[in-house]
Amino acid sequence: TILQAEPEPEERSKQEEKIRPQCLTEYIGQKDLKDVLDIAIRAAKSRQEPLDHLLLYGPPGLGKTTMSLILAQEMGVKCKIASAPALERPRDIMGLLISLQPGDVLFIDEIHRLAKVAEELLYPAMEDFRVDIPLGKGKSAKMQSMSLPPFTLVGATTRVGALTSPLRDRFGLIQRLRFYEIDELTEIVLRTAALLKMNITQSGGEEIARRARGTPRIANRLLKRVRDFAEVKAFREIDRDIAAEALQLFNVDPCGLDWTDRRLLSFMIERHNGGPVGLETLAASTGEDAQTIEEVYEPYLMQIGYLSRTPRGRVATAAAWKHLGYTPPDTHQM
Ligand code: ADP
Repeated sequence: TILQAEPEPEERSKQEEKIRPQCLTEYIGQKDLKDVLDIAIRAAKSRQEPLDHLLLYGPPGLGKTTMSLILAQEMGVKCKIASAPALERPRDIMGLLISLQPGDVLFIDEIHRLAKVAEELLYPAMEDFRVDIPLGKGKSAKMQSMSLPPFTLVGATTRVGALTSPLRDRFGLIQRLRFYEIDELTEIVLRTAALLKMNITQSGGEEIARRARGTPRIANRLLKRVRDFAEVKAFREIDRDIAAEALQLFNVDPCGLDWTDRRLLSFMIERHNGGPVGLETLAASTGEDAQTIEEVYEPYLMQIGYLSRTPRGRVATAAAWKHLGYTPPDTHQM
């Protein structure tokens, strides 16, 4: 659905690169992260050293790849982008490492999914800028060390808890990205609209922002759907009503919930009186994959206060009951 924050193939296109912020000042929101990185960049530059290895974690679509590209840009180096599942064989990661120029940024997405051999090759690379290459096979194989230019590893993950501790411990900086506020998302929508030469009012931008699940990738995607709608209907300017009407058409409700969110919540309410319900039960009875529920749906539902996690399972809050048109039971019963 359009509300899932995973990138779609078209989003790797040129147009996508055009709307991606290019420097720290264009990167909207995430003030804490920017403050930390701004200091790290200045310190590294003044010492003429590469940045410390950095681990960025948080839900998809919040700007991890973008931040990695910006870091390279600010440091005046190149950024190589790879995704952990594609680094299956030792030679895949070896190839990447030996292709780096001094100071380069190596971005590895979904780093919690790195194969064990690849991960073990990374340890000395991160720590001492060297790789150990086995000569020959089996137990008698000798190791030959090869030195690498100093570089910065930027790892991105949606599940920081799934990283092994030896890997996690090798990152000098570990930073979380948070969901964006409505005003920040509005700024992102208006910025993208300007780059795409679209005519949109402030309140039109806000309407899209409110439905974007705190996620820039979704905000940009919703904006494009609204643009299609406005073009077909020959509206010259996108205002609040037009944005709302267009998004209604795509089943995106006023606070950004889609069909699956509503189904999860109504299942909890109708069948379990709001919960607690175990994750596996939720998955089995709604037909969604447990990991998708945990990583894609729940973080936002928790953020807006519709769902809470308790030791005994998930609970739909009174706000969720009301949003879906149910009368919540007395609070002492919940
Ligand atoms: P992630 O790597 O976390 O999945 P991306 O870095 O690919 O997310 O960001 C998704 C899209 O959202 C990017 O194409 C970019 O245009 C936009 N975006 C992300 N963060 C910001 C931001 N802080 N300001 C403006 N646009 C952003």
